[in-house]
Amino acid sequence: MKAVRFHEFGGSGVLRLEDVDDPVAGAGEVVVRVRAAALNHLDVDVREGISRFPVAFPHTLGIELAGDVESVGDGVDGWKPGDRVNPYILATCGTCRYCTTGRQSLCLTPGFISFSTGGGYAEKVVVKASQLIRIPDGVSFEQAAALQVAFGTSWHMLFTRARLRAGETVLVNSVGSGIGSAAVQLAHHAGAFVIGNASGDDKLERAKELGMDAGINYTRENVVERVLELTDGVGADVAYEHVGGENFQFALDSLTKDGRLVTCGGHAGEVVPFDIIPFFRTQRSIIGSFVYTANEVEACFRLAARGQITPLVHSTFPLAEAAAAMDLMESRTAFGKVLLIP
Ligand SMILES: [Zn+2]
Repeated sequence: MKAVRFHEFGGSGVLRLEDVDDPVAGAGEVVVRVRAAALNHLDVDVREGISRFPVAFPHTLGIELAGDVESVGDGVDGWKPGDRVNPYILATCGTCRYCTTGRQSLCLTPGFISFSTGGGYAEKVVVKASQLIRIPDGVSFEQAAALQVAFGTSWHMLFTRARLRAGETVLVNSVGSGIGSAAVQLAHHAGAFVIGNASGDDKLERAKELGMDAGINYTRENVVERVLELTDGVGADVAYEHVGGENFQFALDSLTKDGRLVTCGGHAGEVVPFDIIPFFRTQRSIIGSFVYTANEVEACFRLAARGQITPLVHSTFPLAEAAAAMDLMESRTAFGKVLLIP
């Protein structure tokens, strides 16, 4: 089969489309024929060697994919060739204190697609059958590949970690990104008042079509002042943060008293200054969030199958053009996911 691999860290020029051996399903495993793989910004960090994940060479990128089962190994029940599937990002142990209490994303010994298995930038991958999530009828492979990381992460952040409720106000940072636009859709669907920000008016317009109630262009408007104006001086109940740097600070300062900031990323600045005094006097909370559970992804699939949320696909590329696809994603001009179609 063909797979996109790299043998040293670097820019998109290190990617090579290579012939590799077909994967074989061991006991409890399945081989999935990849029909669509989504690019994520984590892929760039992994390629450049700054992801803080262990990377062995040669490495095949791709944590997010959709496809159909090609073959199953010994002891696999409930799955057969042709089943349409979306593998959960983690291969969890199922027995640790976190797995047994519904907190799969905290598993003590998780495998991770592309690190403990092959990645999605390939014609086939092998995963544990226990990772498989069924793609509902009416959701295409491309939509499925675009759903898991964006919507699963958003669901976990908004509802499980920050406990967003109907009637509350949420500030969503960078609504033009994959997890930003997903958060707009989920928060709107849940009955929240959604304020979003972005660096461009075109992105704000797209987000309004997805359910955003008010937009702020942070290149020319003061986010904290605008949030206070839009909330009659109260501030946001929840700040949805995934950018880092200044965006983290203005999201924190936009909160009401007892407001909750939830964060899952910090590309624009991983270490930020932090003023302890106003933080404790306003009784605010900062909440960490990491990936999501398979149950949360299944909930998002149900919404997608009913047309209540829409996974956004910006464009698709063949495997041979993986470098161009990554360049497009890195340009941050795409609204929606960039996919590889093997
Ligand atoms: Zn576990």
